[in-house]
Amino acid sequence: MSAPAEAVVDLDAYRANLARLREVAPTAAQMAVVKADAYGHGAVEIAAAAREAGAEWLGVATLEEARDLRRAGDRGPVLAWLNPADADLAPAVDADVDVAAGSVEQLDAVIASGSAARPRVHLKVDTGMARGGVRGAELTALLEAAATAQRAGRIEIAGIFSHFACADEPASPVNGAQEHAFADAVAELASFGAQAPLRHLANSAAALTRPSTHLDMVRVGIASYGLSPGPAVGTSAELGLTPVMTLRTALALVRRVPAGTGVSYGHTYVTRRETTLGLIPVGYGDGLLRAASNRASALVNGVLVPVAGRVCMDQVVLDLGDTPARRGDEVVLFGPGHRGEPLAEDWAEAASTIGYEVLTRLGGRIARRHA
Ligand code: PLP
Repeated sequence: MSAPAEAVVDLDAYRANLARLREVAPTAAQMAVVKADAYGHGAVEIAAAAREAGAEWLGVATLEEARDLRRAGDRGPVLAWLNPADADLAPAVDADVDVAAGSVEQLDAVIASGSAARPRVHLKVDTGMARGGVRGAELTALLEAAATAQRAGRIEIAGIFSHFACADEPASPVNGAQEHAFADAVAELASFGAQAPLRHLANSAAALTRPSTHLDMVRVGIASYGLSPGPAVGTSAELGLTPVMTLRTALALVRRVPAGTGVSYGHTYVTRRETTLGLIPVGYGDGLLRAASNRASALVNGVLVPVAGRVCMDQVVLDLGDTPARRGDEVVLFGPGHRGEPLAEDWAEAASTIGYEVLTRLGGRIARRHA
């Protein structure tokens, strides 16, 4: 291992997770969400694995992410759903990437993009997330404008979609309200004489818990990487998913210290007795969460050992206790849990955040190895 740490990405596990998600949503097309470098797993390799597993669609946020997929040779259906004010949409449309319009202004920008091809547009409805998309009179205006533009041959309405705010809390009444609002939007589009061939609403949590939301396509991200969307949905094991990424490094230094040794910045950790400290060359500069200081653990030679003191920019100290260990021994920060190592969710819990953040924060100094 020449990089300070490596993220080993188990592509078999990824494909198996997609197969599992296909089982729970058998009637819908599957969009593998590969934005943010496939949640830190490497978008190009994950995209290829998704296609092998039969994913009909790839979903990304930015036009650049879509371009990178095309440059890597992907030729299948791709949707890029972010539509920033200054975006140059023509290259994406010319590269056969579907784009989103979440307002009349955004639709006008798509129409004016100057692309040679007829833009394929997915209309974004705000059913309750209040992030992208529109509702009420603005939605009516968008749907009517889109229907008119399609009749004039200026766009093709390829889809209509929305995003859940609370799908990771399956009991939340917001979910049903959003589902109804979405059905209303689909009906309203029809009232303007247009149909969207792809109605898509469900993320991982909804794919796993609300079959009525599967519609024509599900957009699955976190569950495809083997993490649960949230505790109320179930653990990854309960959901039949296998975490895809293992983050590993090696001990760079091992030394014995006496009781009363203050460790790392601020001495927030003080050894209670004589112990062995192990240093690993990875820190918050690599995306490890500093909020997990003194709270997370790692696996060393079969033993779970705690993070001792604050996570530093490039280094972390582990309290190995009396675990026999030598410089060079493997340290597993998180993985699928098969060997007793923590899960990414354990790091998330330690840092009061979500597994998504643990994965996507991992930076460029960490080598990705696809196995
Ligand atoms: N659809 C959209 C629009 C998203 O922004 C995301 C991710 O946040 C997803 C689908 C996938 O969500 P998840 O990772 O929870 O499956």
